[in-house]
Amino acid sequence: MDISLPRRKVDLDFYLHRVFQKQSFRPLQRDVITAAIEGHDVFLQASTSFGKSLCFQLPAMTRHGVTVVVCPLLSLMTDQVNALEALGVPVAMINSNTPFEERRVILNDLLSGHPRTRLLYVTPELCQTDTFRRNLKTIHRQRELVRIAIDEAHCISEWGHNFRPAYKDLAWFKAYLTDPPVPITALTATATPQVRKDIIKILGLDPPRLKIFSTPSTRPNIHYEIRFMQGFAPHPTEPESFQIKDLLTWLHSVQARRDARCGANIGAIRPPILGIIYVSTRIASTKLAETLCRRDSRIRAVAYHAGLSTADRTRVQNEWIMPQEQQRHSTDGNPRPDTLNFYIIVATAAFGMGIDNPQVRFVVHWSPPRTFEGFVQESGRAGRDGRAAASIVYYNPQERERVLEWLRRDIENVNNRTGGRTTGLHNRNKVDSLRNLYARKQSFEKVVQYCETTTECRHKMIRDFFGDSELERMGSQVPVKPGYDADIKTENVGDWEDAPGGVPLTSPCDWACDFCKEGPKALAERKQKIAPDSGLAPFSEAGPSWLEVMFLSINRMFPMDRIFPELRHFA
Ligand SMILES: [Zn+2]
Repeated sequence: MDISLPRRKVDLDFYLHRVFQKQSFRPLQRDVITAAIEGHDVFLQASTSFGKSLCFQLPAMTRHGVTVVVCPLLSLMTDQVNALEALGVPVAMINSNTPFEERRVILNDLLSGHPRTRLLYVTPELCQTDTFRRNLKTIHRQRELVRIAIDEAHCISEWGHNFRPAYKDLAWFKAYLTDPPVPITALTATATPQVRKDIIKILGLDPPRLKIFSTPSTRPNIHYEIRFMQGFAPHPTEPESFQIKDLLTWLHSVQARRDARCGANIGAIRPPILGIIYVSTRIASTKLAETLCRRDSRIRAVAYHAGLSTADRTRVQNEWIMPQEQQRHSTDGNPRPDTLNFYIIVATAAFGMGIDNPQVRFVVHWSPPRTFEGFVQESGRAGRDGRAAASIVYYNPQERERVLEWLRRDIENVNNRTGGRTTGLHNRNKVDSLRNLYARKQSFEKVVQYCETTTECRHKMIRDFFGDSELERMGSQVPVKPGYDADIKTENVGDWEDAPGGVPLTSPCDWACDFCKEGPKALAERKQKIAPDSGLAPFSEAGPSWLEVMFLSINRMFPMDRIFPELRHFA
């Protein structure tokens, strides 16, 4: 179905070196950029480490005119704009914090007929306003609107884990900017088949002009493992001693293997091993960080959550990027500089961004993640340098029930907030919210399935969830080698940290999960020791749950088979 668009000879390497000051493209980046320059609609699904933003930033520099970038988070927007400004790229952003005068200057340039600005960052909410749309139409009429790039495109779907209502109205671009149609680039790290369908359909991406690109959903250098807890914490914010003990034992074994490998150099100062632990609340973050530091002087663990002051956040981020420096200069009574083995950030999931470091060696989920998409994104912060890394999830049925209870309360809140009214806007919002909650429940069920399964490779489960093979059937172009940034692999996953690379990849997993390493029997035996679930019914066989019942209750207002086709058999 691919149609040819006129080719434009552009020296991509020139822009890469001169403007973006990078040495080389990662596999696939060049293809995505070429498709954009040729004027295709582009759908790109790739993990955080891929360098997605270059795929619309570089094309924007190759010709006159403006590329509008829709970005859901101010922090993300500010980071990108600052980085571009540092490179001397003419970039601007308009959001709720932009002073009136600054906004006027930006708009004057954009509407001048020969805008200097090449990239304009905006929020989805701004795109909903009549004024902005009117201005965009003018720029388009002047033939100066080159492309729309939509970052975090999964926010458009209620089936996604980050649904943002304003995203739905981005359908406006294709509906109104028609002569000529403005090409769109949609980017996401985590889209399931359903979400992908929504992105393409709602944005109105044009199938004959659409080029799809994706990278594998799992990274072969990450070892995925579930640790079934033999006890459970009575209160979710209290770090339980059995779990602390288990983690410390694991960390010590990691350190012992590292020491053994380093042999004669054992006395040398090495940078600490970096890790992230995700917890569910701010209090848990603070308490766990304190406990880890107290229990082992060679561990520096710091809390990282939305309750920190800007100064504290900056301090943590700086340390995180340069842990060696921190180690060398630490004078505040913290661990002795030459004995720090681990630097660990204990973060809430809501505050995971901004702490990317390619050398993270492990990501631990202290309790089951709330959504499967979130889990894959967060665990994907490990091993971005392509070297061996680990993802560990602590799991027990009590935590599972706790999350379900949270979900139940959320649903009650939606029901109460809208007061059960059944007209107009209330209706639509309520259906949107409930559908999103239902999607979150489905996603959490996937987490449960991922954790409780002892008969399947975890890499395979992740790829199935994101429909990697479906993407291929859709004609997605993928990197030549799976694991574009992770083409090295350890010989022995027991030695995952610091392992030398260079072993060619033989399969998408290649022993890098507990199922493939231990085998189904040993894994099942390990799961047997899980804390008794106090008579809880097996999750998957519990029949219509309170949530289904709740959804059925809105059946009176909406035809259920249209909203939740799979619930039909309960009706
Ligand atoms: Zn496996």
